[in-house]
Amino acid sequence: MNILVINCGSSSLKFQIVQTDLELIEKNADKQLAKGLIERIGSQALVSYKAEGQSAFKTTAPIRDHKAAISHIIQWITSDESQIPGIKSLEDIHAVGHRTVHGGETFSQSVRIDNDVIKCLEDNIDLAPLHNPANIKGIRAAREVFGPSIPQVGIFDTSFHQTMPEENYLYAIPYQYYRRYKIRKYGFHGTSHRYVSYRYSVLENIPKDKTNIITLHLGNGASACAIKGGKSIDTSMGFTPLEGLIMGTRCGDIDPSIVEFISHKEASSMDEVFNMLNKRSGIMGISGLTNDMRDLLEEEAEHQDRRAILAVKMFSARIKKYIGAYLSAMNGADAICFTGGIGENAVEIRQRVCEGLDWFGIEIDNKKNAATVGGKEGIISKKDGKVKVYVIPTNEELIMARDTCRVVMNAPLS
Ligand code: ADP
Repeated sequence: MNILVINCGSSSLKFQIVQTDLELIEKNADKQLAKGLIERIGSQALVSYKAEGQSAFKTTAPIRDHKAAISHIIQWITSDESQIPGIKSLEDIHAVGHRTVHGGETFSQSVRIDNDVIKCLEDNIDLAPLHNPANIKGIRAAREVFGPSIPQVGIFDTSFHQTMPEENYLYAIPYQYYRRYKIRKYGFHGTSHRYVSYRYSVLENIPKDKTNIITLHLGNGASACAIKGGKSIDTSMGFTPLEGLIMGTRCGDIDPSIVEFISHKEASSMDEVFNMLNKRSGIMGISGLTNDMRDLLEEEAEHQDRRAILAVKMFSARIKKYIGAYLSAMNGADAICFTGGIGENAVEIRQRVCEGLDWFGIEIDNKKNAATVGGKEGIISKKDGKVKVYVIPTNEELIMARDTCRVVMNAPLS
């Protein structure tokens, strides 16, 4: 089957085409055929497409909305120019998988999208006002372009964390707020944590129920996940993606009283304060320089900027704190797995995070750490270390394509 996986933002659309079926999944032999990105939908859009083994194709085009973006993609993938093997017309795409940010408590796994599912997503808009509307737009657009005969599947960022026990997902506020408004920890980046957990079990050749690890997805957004027996039992993001680790521009954990205090002192509205916590905090807020870890590390190395150094220290220290908490929640773990742009590339951050954790049996081999960058996968801990440390480049699209295939084939989801 050729599966188109789509990830819609408010003005962007990322896609991949993956060839997969139940046999290819079993053999771990699925193939990525093409990928691409359309940015600035709604005006003169920036388009970049790449078929496997071909050079990238870049252009600009007036793209009005998500439907026009999907039509643009279809035009390219079915053209002679793209040279994607086996794809000549719309009928050569057999199913579409949509990344969907918030499934609330309704979706604990990927589902075939029908009108009822769209209605549930609309009901969950309250929980993810920034993301779900864009996802719904993408789903409606794909349904219009492909018609009703091509199945569409929703894959939720939250569903992997639906296995958390209630003592971990509830907040200690009056219980009625959970009952009335479903205020609880949902967690995000679920598809990435799930991929890393699956991939670790493949690399270690162990079954899912023996997978006891801590995964660290460190990108612009960042989250940690405690995975016991292959299931998420706790994660650092919460009701929204604002909680937990320090991120590019998000503050992570803070005392909620700060919100009221700043609002009062600066005569700012709640919206203004939350905008600051989401968009001007994190490593950006501390360093006052950048939200980008690569730039921050360069600044730290070249100019010894005090606040750049502080931001790096705080970012790493918060991750350590979560590792400690999860090791105790899980009664120990077999591995710590780094992923995401920072987790896959930032040697210094990995080193700082693991520094001083030798008491737990976590020790990094500096040579291996330095060599495992740029999409490389591997172990970076010392030989015979009690807890292995892995770098596992994430591949959310693979999980999305496989789930889409399994849902369409009525096969059990892993
Ligand atoms: P997103 O959450 O937007 O998907 P990514 O997973 O792509 O983010 O991660 C982006 C982050 O990864 C940025 O902070 C970027 O600076 C960082 N990053 C990418 N490459 C490197 C590198 N070589 N060294 C340090 N940080 C890096």
